[in-house]
Amino acid sequence: MPLLESAGPLMHEVASGACCAARMINYTDRINDLMHDIVMRVPALSYIDVSRVLVFARYGRAGADGAFATCHCLTLPPTEPGYYYWRDRETGRITRRSEWFVVKCPSVEIARTPIHYLISFTLPRFCNQSLERSRKEEFYRGVEPWVAKLDTIVHELYHIDPDSNGIRTVERRDGACSALSHGPAFLQTVSSMVKQYLRTNPDPACYDFLRYPFADLSHRFGGVVATTFRTFPSFPQRYMEALSSPPTEPVHVKIEPIKSSNRPHHYTDADLCIRQFFDEPAASGRSASHRARPSVRLLTAVLDERAVAAACERPRHTD
Ligand SMILES: [Zn+2]
Repeated sequence: MPLLESAGPLMHEVASGACCAARMINYTDRINDLMHDIVMRVPALSYIDVSRVLVFARYGRAGADGAFATCHCLTLPPTEPGYYYWRDRETGRITRRSEWFVVKCPSVEIARTPIHYLISFTLPRFCNQSLERSRKEEFYRGVEPWVAKLDTIVHELYHIDPDSNGIRTVERRDGACSALSHGPAFLQTVSSMVKQYLRTNPDPACYDFLRYPFADLSHRFGGVVATTFRTFPSFPQRYMEALSSPPTEPVHVKIEPIKSSNRPHHYTDADLCIRQFFDEPAASGRSASHRARPSVRLLTAVLDERAVAAACERPRHTD
């Protein structure tokens, strides 16, 4: 039986139903395997070392707006030292300021390999993605709707900068470069790489799992599990670090300490765990619409090692 981290009635009910002969699909492992296949078959992505990429899952409600996936870079250098300050509205004089600080990336090391990029996928939302009525639909006329998911995976890989400078910058319509740009040229390039990948006749076993929405996967495999951080729903993010010996300057104003988060700054294998993800129970009737939505933690359950060995499929990629 899976161990339930913060068991509510909903989780007991669903998790006990998940014990069946089928091995639960490890969605992030499947995506990781697929990424290995993609970078082998698409020359424009061959610079990517997938062993330096960690795929993990976040919770994203199905049918709700929000990202399907995000590429997070861990190799950005610390920012220049700086501080926040507050001014008096009338005189314009600075009345107080924060400590000096820099913003740093956390480090993640898995199997003694430093990780350069994290790519997160939001479950169950990602599994239910479709080309229909999406921004990328125009690039995929006559293509099966599930290819939207393959597109998103290639899209996130394409965000990895070929010159190891963080997130790829793309020229915007106004000529400026931005790491946030997703103009038509970006989407078109991604779609051409997706089509190129499919033309190489990859083994359907590599991508077939993308055909199914979340409910179908749960039914076929008896459950959907994924790699997450133990700090779930939190995950490694950039943080502010106060400078221990700030540059000397005459102190004229009150200095506010930097609020430091209690998130770890260094993560290893020990900070990862396998979680089962559940769909939100369908709301029905008037009373259901007034019911509070279950928290994200209650829509997932941590599996211990024995449960993973007994109930989840084995990783298939072995390098
Ligand atoms: Zn993007």
